[in-house]
Amino acid sequence: MRDTRRRFLQNTILAVPAIKFGIMKRSKEGSRPLVMSTWDSGVIANEGAWPVLSTQGRALDAVEQAGIAIENHISCCVGLGGNPDRDGYVTLDSCIMDEKANCGSVAFLERIKHPVSVARKVMEKTPHVMLVGQGAQQFAVQQGFHLEEQKLSPEAAKAYKDWLKNSEYKPVKNIERTQTNKGKGPFVPNRLQDGSFNHDTMGTIALDSRGDLSGMCTTSGMAFKMRGRVGDSPLIGAGLFVDNEAGAAVATGQGEEIIRISGCHLVVELMRNGASPQEACEKAIERIIKRDPVRAKDFQACFIAISRGGDTGAFAVHPGFNFAIWNSEIENTVFDSKSYFSD
Ligand code: ASP
Repeated sequence: MRDTRRRFLQNTILAVPAIKFGIMKRSKEGSRPLVMSTWDSGVIANEGAWPVLSTQGRALDAVEQAGIAIENHISCCVGLGGNPDRDGYVTLDSCIMDEKANCGSVAFLERIKHPVSVARKVMEKTPHVMLVGQGAQQFAVQQGFHLEEQKLSPEAAKAYKDWLKNSEYKPVKNIERTQTNKGKGPFVPNRLQDGSFNHDTMGTIALDSRGDLSGMCTTSGMAFKMRGRVGDSPLIGAGLFVDNEAGAAVATGQGEEIIRISGCHLVVELMRNGASPQEACEKAIERIIKRDPVRAKDFQACFIAISRGGDTGAFAVHPGFNFAIWNSEIENTVFDSKSYFSD
């Protein structure tokens, strides 16, 4: 199963090696389903979402299925197979938001396979928006989620062992770049030579045939983070924001920088004020860089966005970010994002 999927992904990505992304216009009014996910592994998330969207399902159900699909996959940065914190524990963050601003979130959640579904339960079964740590885990178990063994995947165990040699604690600019190239030499796409994935947070936003938007974000957070550290990904407004009257946006990259500008809320508000999704993503990235242009040379941050009319946009601080789109015209295709710096 994994091998087939891997081959499919390789073919998909090789088919469009260097498409540069611009603004995509809808060809006609009316609601055509669309799903957009961060990174090239977004094709896996989109595979989860499209069967729902293409059969007139809700965007909310589609983005949850996108999260489940990627959480099932072993990767460095999402789900229980992700890299651990500096103490060796995998801690997961996730959130979900629908067209009516209903939202749910979990952070610092351990030993639960599908944080995106727990986030949805927080949204639907509690009067709250966010549960963290042991409380989130307790709630998940009460809701019938299985408490998994506390165990690193072989890939994460190896990465952790390597990291322990220096135990250097600093934010990683482009995790895919440093891990494949050790931070030197020409950029290598975020795929290891053996074909395994090596990407960051998975964010998915979708528009359904009713014209409703929803989004989700799921991550194991920055690799080897301090125990207890939570980034932007489970924070509504920072890592994800949806407003049916304006648009939807989701983020990946250095969470602290995205939180500082309430990134996804900013992108959506810019769209509300007339910016296209592309312009909104660019302005939000410029805001991040303006705060500290020197430090911005050393971290990555990225946004993707969909307007309420179904236009899309994406922008990043540095090259190396890509994303996947599936709609009635584009079948699960990966595009390179434009970026502020050319590196
Ligand atoms: N935004 C995530 C975080 O800060 C990490 C990532 O996207 O790679 O936890």
